[in-house]
Amino acid sequence: MKGFIYSLTCSKTGLIYYGSTTDTEKRINKGWPKCSCKNFISPKFEILEELEFQNKKELLLKENDYIKNNICINRNVAVRTKETIADYNKKYVEKNRDRMRENTRKYEDKLKKIFVNCPNCNKELKKRSLRLHLLNHCHHQSRR
Ligand SMILES: [Zn+2]
Repeated sequence: MKGFIYSLTCSKTGLIYYGSTTDTEKRINKGWPKCSCKNFISPKFEILEELEFQNKKELLLKENDYIKNNICINRNVAVRTKETIADYNKKYVEKNRDRMRENTRKYEDKLKKIFVNCPNCNKELKKRSLRLHLLNHCHHQSRR
C-alpha cells in the first residue's frame, strides 16, 4: 500500500501538526474538525513523504518519527509502541517529580514562617529549628 506523511501548518501561528493518510484527496476533503489542529487558520497542507508499506503500523511508526523528532502540536503519537510508552512513563515520572519538589519547597517555605517559643527558655524560634535548639542549646545548658 501507499501512504503519505503530511504536515498541516497554521498560516497565522506557524504551528505544525503531523499526520498520515493513504489517500490525500480524501484526507483533505474530510477537513480537520476533530483534529488537535482544529484551531488552525487557513492551514497549509503539505505532503512530506510518500512510502510503500505492507502493514499500516509501518505508516504510523513513520508518523511517530515525525512527531517525536519535530516541534509540533500533536499531543499523542500515531501508534503506541514499547518505546513511546516507556518515553511517556519517563515524562510522567519527571513531571511528577517536579510537582513533588514544588510541594516540598512550599512546605519548607511554610515552615520557615512558623515561629514557636521554646518550652524551656521561652525564646522565640523558627519551628524548624526548635528540635535542634532543644537538643543543642537549651537542654544542654539547663542540664548543667
Ligand atoms: Zn530554649
